[in-house]
Amino acid sequence: MTPSHWYNIIPDLPAPPPPPLHPGTRQPVGPDDLAPLFPMELIGQEVSGERFLAIPQDVLDVYRLWRPTPLIRAHRLEKSLGTPARIYYKYEGVSPAGSHKPNTAVPQAYYNKLEGVRRLTTETGAGQWGSALAFACAQFGLECEIWMVRASYDQKPYRRSLMRVYGAAVHASPSPATGAGRKILAEHPDSTGSLGIAISEAVEVAGSAADTRYALGSVLNHVLLHQTVIGEEALKQLPEMPDLVIGCTGGGSNFAGLAFPFMRERPETVFRAVEPEACPSFTRGRYAYDFGDTAGFTPLLKMHTLGHDFVPDPIHAGGLRYHGMSPLLSHMYELGMFEAVTKSQSECFEAGVRFARTEGIVPAPEPTHALAETIAEALRCKESGEEKVILTALCGHGHFDLGAYDRYLAGELEDYALPQERVDAALAGLPG
Ligand SMILES: *Cc1c(COP(=O)(O)O)cnc(C)c1O
Repeated sequence: MTPSHWYNIIPDLPAPPPPPLHPGTRQPVGPDDLAPLFPMELIGQEVSGERFLAIPQDVLDVYRLWRPTPLIRAHRLEKSLGTPARIYYKYEGVSPAGSHKPNTAVPQAYYNKLEGVRRLTTETGAGQWGSALAFACAQFGLECEIWMVRASYDQKPYRRSLMRVYGAAVHASPSPATGAGRKILAEHPDSTGSLGIAISEAVEVAGSAADTRYALGSVLNHVLLHQTVIGEEALKQLPEMPDLVIGCTGGGSNFAGLAFPFMRERPETVFRAVEPEACPSFTRGRYAYDFGDTAGFTPLLKMHTLGHDFVPDPIHAGGLRYHGMSPLLSHMYELGMFEAVTKSQSECFEAGVRFARTEGIVPAPEPTHALAETIAEALRCKESGEEKVILTALCGHGHFDLGAYDRYLAGELEDYALPQERVDAALAGLPG
């Protein structure tokens, strides 16, 4: 059964996360500051003090297309590793867009429709979020306009096609359609783009049209809230409580969605976030106020950040190439509520191929980070003889990422060590 409520962890924390600040006044932003971008219901959810929020019936009706999602014991992977650990994965790749992203795209489209919005704008990196929002907008009769990071627009033509099949308009970012895009193109005509630039473009267009709002696929409190359907379902499906929960983190939403309900029910569980070596916000970023986008249109968010100017190397896990992190998770990391580790691109693809050959599902490059750590932990259990119960978030399939798998199989995949000078240079651009 799909849960009837989303879980809001904020009232259960010892202290709330620091608020977003207005970049001009440096005062906490109020609902009026956010109203040009988001519908009131989502602004309310962003700051809600309620522990449980009811999922609207119209949203449940769409969730029913793919929820509840499978919770699977990885018997064949366990056997191939020879580990005494018991490994479970919660598989979100059965959604129409192939990832966990529709869990929040659907309620976001629904609340916008309810408040009379006609069009949504957004950005997308690898195309997972864009295709999820395009699907959700089609469900509720909204127009959808998407800025897709140029590098992915060129490398992943079929994600682009999927968005168009769902009825969305797709621009390569930076684009000549916005002031922010034109400014970047004037300075760097060959720019391959970044999520930060694409966010600036989508926010600019939403802010300048009365019938248009903006939607974000990760990072914000209401997104993490919607994703808790994953963990609430897993709580009911698991035959035993996990000792360890592992998830990959780009902006943090799939990890939080799986972990938060277990943090409530079993705080003694260990929680571990996995990020790419090439974009290590938790492990090498600074906990500071920074912009969510490159142009500096968004409020200042207190988060683990590599700096809003940071342009990560072109790893194939496009969903993990974001300079910042969820402010809520950043706050909880400071409170010591979970651990974070990094993985190299080659270790991740090795884990992805091993998983495909044992469990049959080809994982998206993002969750191969969680799988690489799951496998490493299972091998540590083999050494120690521990029968740990490990739960991992398999947040999407890799059917649109087979080009990346081809490169791995051909031995052409690169690892990107991130020199400290690049981190320092990007952090020097943090707002004072
Ligand atoms: C977007 C995406 C991510 C990264 O976003 P989070 O908010 O950290 O979950 C990870 N995996 C997949 C499959 C994605 O589409």
